[in-house]
Amino acid sequence: MEKKQHVSTCAIHRGEKCKYYCMEEKCDRALCQMCITKHQGHRVKPIEIAMLEKKKRAEKAKHEVKSVSPEKKEVKKVQKVAVPPVATK
Ligand SMILES: [Zn+2]
Ligand SMILES: [Zn+2]
Repeated sequence: MEKKQHVSTCAIHRGEKCKYYCMEEKCDRALCQMCITKHQGHRVKPIEIAMLEKKKRAEKAKHEVKSVSPEKKEVKKVQKVAVPPVATK
């Protein structure tokens, strides 16, 4: 399969490639070289690096969820087992 490089373009400045990303919580969006002037003082990073960091964070969040859910299941199992079938002859 052909591997196309995904480069998003700016919604405000048509045709401008989004090469940067603002990591500020209130922004959290891709920026072109013209947008970047409005984000001075923000945590602006090259988009490749920002995407990697977001991916890492998402994976970390997944792991955290995974490590929590089996425990809950175990508790449920234990509760089921703890109720013995009343088999009186
Ligand atoms: Zn722009
Ligand atoms: Zn910003």
